[in-house]
Amino acid sequence: MINLEDKVAKLCLDKYDSLKKTGKPTETEWTVLSGVVLQSSSQELNVVSLCTGTKCLSGAELKNTKYKEHGNRLSDSHAEILARRAFLRYLYNQIELTLDDKNSDIFFITNGRIKLKDVSFHFFSSQTPCGDCSIIPKQKEPADLEISRKKIKLEYSDSLDFIVGLEIIDIHRTGAKCIKNDERQDPHKDGVHYHTVGPLRTKPGRGDRTLSLSCSDKIAKWNLLGVQGALLSLMIPSIKFESIVIGGDCPYLLESMQRGLCKRFSPDQTAPIIKQSKLAFAHKKGKLRIRPCPSSIVWCAVSEQPIEIAVDGYKQGATKKKKKNCSLLASRKEIFKTFLRVYNKYIYDKKIPQHPKKAMYHHYKQYSTTYQNLWKDVRTKIIPTWPVKPLYLQECISFL
Ligand SMILES: [Zn+2]
Repeated sequence: MINLEDKVAKLCLDKYDSLKKTGKPTETEWTVLSGVVLQSSSQELNVVSLCTGTKCLSGAELKNTKYKEHGNRLSDSHAEILARRAFLRYLYNQIELTLDDKNSDIFFITNGRIKLKDVSFHFFSSQTPCGDCSIIPKQKEPADLEISRKKIKLEYSDSLDFIVGLEIIDIHRTGAKCIKNDERQDPHKDGVHYHTVGPLRTKPGRGDRTLSLSCSDKIAKWNLLGVQGALLSLMIPSIKFESIVIGGDCPYLLESMQRGLCKRFSPDQTAPIIKQSKLAFAHKKGKLRIRPCPSSIVWCAVSEQPIEIAVDGYKQGATKKKKKNCSLLASRKEIFKTFLRVYNKYIYDKKIPQHPKKAMYHHYKQYSTTYQNLWKDVRTKIIPTWPVKPLYLQECISFL
């Protein structure tokens, strides 16, 4: 019997192989592949979202983006983050099917509320997420030693797990820098003492620092609050990934994953199942694949426009003049449009007060009180250092 992590990985790798060449890396480029796999009550597995990507806009690039275009342009195009955005598109589509009395694979309505069927979701990524999870001790290969776990104390930070009896040569590093408002910073000393572990980190970017947090941090947030975010919380229950599967043949350590995704913030929280598959992604970084691929594939299991190719945060082929019409369906602006359409259908026969015509994206987010209260709780008690997004990055005029 093939185990679940290999099944999940194989489905994502096969789905990637089935897609056309457009957006895939050339022979000298590498990329990251991430996706979401649905497990139905009959245990059947199906890929519902699949994306590739390696890029993230720097703070300077974002500043150069026109104010009105902020919602149009994706700033964070790491595969993990795109896979969540494409998954949101899938969820909206499933909600619409339910509201239209068509058969949804995952939702049903009871007493006017949308409920989740007996299904679960698995998250796949071809490599360990950037940031805290990627800080992993490099050790000499085990001989016939009896392996047990111990901790090494690092300066300024939590301890780093490693395997006793094996010589630690160094640690795998991440380009993600600790956020400025954390007193714990990387010592940048030799070997094991290069990094600290625990703090939030911003993604590595060209030159200027990015404003986006590392994938380890963002996935940790999904584990705490659900992957659906504030807007969808107005209509559906919270959705958390049952398991997180990392592709084969890449630096990986279970303890680093558990620390990065969970334990550094809430040691007692039930973590998702974390596994590494034996199966490796063919287009990952390697001897010949030395440059990150600039384009992204964004796919989800919907009937209309399931696939998009993204470059620089826009649809491929966007020119300066046409950028306005070149936002991806997975962009904040387009997802917000979809939200408004679906939400209007949802509240049709409910006594929910009509929203103001020019309501902003962040206003709707605030309506979602259960989600916002939980988030407030997490921010005050668990992750007080989580940075507040500047308002100009949140605004998006309503299209009602
Ligand atoms: Zn990342």
